[in-house]
Amino acid sequence: MFVNITFLGTGTSQGVPMIGCTCAVCTSADPKDNRLRSAVWLRNEETSVVIDSGPDFRYQMLRAKVQTLDGIVFTHGHKDHVAGLDDVRAYNYWTQKDIDIFANADTETVLRREFHYAFSNLQYPGLPQLKIHTLSGQDFEVGNLTFKTIKTLHYKLEVYGYRIGDFTYITDANYIAPEELEKIKGSKILVLNALRHEEHISHFTLSQAIAIAREVGATQTYFTHISHQLGLHEEVNRELPEGMALAYDGLTLNL
Ligand SMILES: [Zn+2]
Ligand SMILES: [Zn+2]
Ligand SMILES: [Zn+2]
Repeated sequence: MFVNITFLGTGTSQGVPMIGCTCAVCTSADPKDNRLRSAVWLRNEETSVVIDSGPDFRYQMLRAKVQTLDGIVFTHGHKDHVAGLDDVRAYNYWTQKDIDIFANADTETVLRREFHYAFSNLQYPGLPQLKIHTLSGQDFEVGNLTFKTIKTLHYKLEVYGYRIGDFTYITDANYIAPEELEKIKGSKILVLNALRHEEHISHFTLSQAIAIAREVGATQTYFTHISHQLGLHEEVNRELPEGMALAYDGLTLNL
């Protein structure tokens, strides 16, 4: 099945540049060193869906010219993945329909807390109109795309990765169990989070992500959720093994 994939954001929770930072990455003139918070957009003739709606959601929708949206699929409830949800109001306005959102129970709890007014019985005009679908690991469809869930751990928090055809997207993980890794094998395009070089309690480092990428053996692997501490895009990218690259905002792929 044809799917066009656009990286809407490839940065860690602070984004790159980080506010107040004067390091070589944060002051770089290379547009690839500018990273909004991590999200991707999948679309084909029938379906348009984004994975995560972080604080940059509104600008990402404008920048990538996302004219229609059938759903938002969440990986987990951290602020850098959910904070922009309120701005689905524009799509509600244009279609006069709810937006389908897909989240596991933990993430749903966060969404109901952070956006309590959207779930309240006291509805008033202009609120986000959401239709929530609770996930527990089952396959599900958004339009004509089938999502398979890959369960990962982000320190102690369960984070959902997704496989759509031969495209797998995993962010904010630092552990993938062997049986979950099996589900990823055969992917043509694999996206994995790789925060920086130094160890982190809840994210893969670049070398850990490379090791997983080798094990999965996708045709092409892209790394995302990148911190300014990883280094300049161009320099880090040049040193990566064959078939691996850093993602960057605006990168577009076809499956
Ligand atoms: Zn994150
Ligand atoms: Zn910096
Ligand atoms: Zn997170």
